[in-house]
Amino acid sequence: MDRFDLVVIGGGPVGYAAVMRGLDFGKKVCLIERDKIGGTGVYNGALSSKTLWEVANRVAGINEAIVNDGRELYEIPWKNIQRTVNEAKQERHNQYVSHLQLLQERSIEDLLWIEEGEASFVSPHTIRVINSQNEEKHLQGDHIIIATGSRPRHLPDYSIDEQHILTSDGIEHIEDYPESLVIVGAGVIGCEYATIFANLGKTKVHLIDRKSRILPDEDADISDLVAKNLEKKGVIIHHNATLSRMEIIDDEVEYELRYHDRESQTIRVKKALLSIGRVPNIEALKLENAGVKWNEQGEIIVEDTQTCVDHIYAVGDVTGGISLVNMGEIEARHAVEKIMENKLTHLNIDNVCTIMFLNPEVALVGMNEQQCIEKKIPIKVVKIDFTLIARAIAMRETQGFFKIIVTNDQHMHILGMRACGEHASTAIQGVGLLIKMNQPIEVLSELIHPHPSIVEGIQECVRMLLNRSIFKSNVFRHRLACYSVVNGVKTNLETGIQCIM
Ligand SMILES: Cc1cc2nc3c(=O)[nH]c(=O)nc-3n(C[C@H](O)[C@H](O)[C@H](O)COP(=O)(O)OP(=O)(O)OC[C@H]3O[C@@H](n4cnc5c(N)ncnc54)[C@H](O)[C@@H]3O)c2cc1C
Repeated sequence: MDRFDLVVIGGGPVGYAAVMRGLDFGKKVCLIERDKIGGTGVYNGALSSKTLWEVANRVAGINEAIVNDGRELYEIPWKNIQRTVNEAKQERHNQYVSHLQLLQERSIEDLLWIEEGEASFVSPHTIRVINSQNEEKHLQGDHIIIATGSRPRHLPDYSIDEQHILTSDGIEHIEDYPESLVIVGAGVIGCEYATIFANLGKTKVHLIDRKSRILPDEDADISDLVAKNLEKKGVIIHHNATLSRMEIIDDEVEYELRYHDRESQTIRVKKALLSIGRVPNIEALKLENAGVKWNEQGEIIVEDTQTCVDHIYAVGDVTGGISLVNMGEIEARHAVEKIMENKLTHLNIDNVCTIMFLNPEVALVGMNEQQCIEKKIPIKVVKIDFTLIARAIAMRETQGFFKIIVTNDQHMHILGMRACGEHASTAIQGVGLLIKMNQPIEVLSELIHPHPSIVEGIQECVRMLLNRSIFKSNVFRHRLACYSVVNGVKTNLETGIQCIM
């Protein structure tokens, strides 16, 4: 039986990152993948949906530009969009695979091994791999990292045929634009798909939101702006609505909504997309044979990436943490460093930057206002509207804002930031670095930014906190804001006016 220093189960972006970090230590590593290298990071997930978003964004940009000239709207055949998405997936897949092949060819000591097949535990150190020809193989790992990812959650009462009622696994494979589409779930992924189809302009989109506002985990200023833009593009958002029935009738999807505050409604659409979360892939692993524990949601229970069995780690979506590629990759690298270097420091995720691909794009780092308030942390909040940022004016894209949240003390340590608007995803990184380095906000106020650039808005926020801003908030009252929130009382730091939150 082959023996390895490290066996990684799952060749998505997270398992891949674990393998590469293992090789850095000169260890013998085996990667087991049952389907396609790249996982949801490439297929029916991060890369493919972002390619769709980019295409849709460009189509919307072109149409916004020509609509004022009275010209006919630009339309792109769905097949062409699919071709572009397939090209992107293929390119990334080829990079991953050829990189593995070349590493194998160039490794003199045969350090990297790839096994195609489904892995399951036979015992804590022994893994069985069964490939598509039903051939079986056993191998041994001194250490094992589980990175088997997740799949879309289904609703028990609705039959998902991936033709009419779809999940993110099926939506990219439809044959043409749906004339109408209902999206069940107004979280990040549901809102991203609503943005994509609204931007493409060929589909009447309905979005079912169980709560009173979409993106409920984010502050209201973000969800309000995103909702306003979706509605402007014709998306119907059903707030406070619960899905009580959904069935396929005459090649269409009929669904019934129950509202908290009004009568129920029955609607027919061509397709439905369920976007109600994901479930971890653990069933095939036979975790019980290794003694690894999982919770009621099927998420492998970990403490700083380590399972209850000392030599077995779990990272990425399978642990049900923050399900993102960058997050999983950090976990994977951390787990390998713990194994190889006996690293003792815990993984710090305070500065993980993420993006939501909406209209406009939204980038996040650290806590938002509502999280700080829930935790009763006294805070100062400073906000600038994009209408005051020269680059945004030049771009004629002045929708959006920066919001920085700091501790309400003399140190003003950054707790988090939200960027909503053009270049949001690149703007956030400086603040992410500051959080990581535990540096005070003065550092940002003294940087010399290129002009005109969107990041100048962040600098202006910081200067406002230090009472050194160029634009004064007592003049631009609706575009600049600086307030504290302490014990549920919000105080405008300019006027001293208070209100209970
Ligand atoms: C629609 C959508 C959009 C997204 N957008 C973003 C985004 O913009 N940014 C972002 O950071 N993240 C995004 N994500 C999340 C991101 O795709 C996941 O967090 C990431 O892919 C998780 O990586 P992973 O390696 O843990 O799991 P996966 O990518 O799911 O890979 C797991 C791999 O393990 C394999 N496997 C499973 N069980 C076994 C077994 N028993 N034996 C062998 N192999 C096995 C699977 O075949 C798969 O290849 C998105 C996800 C979705 C669905």
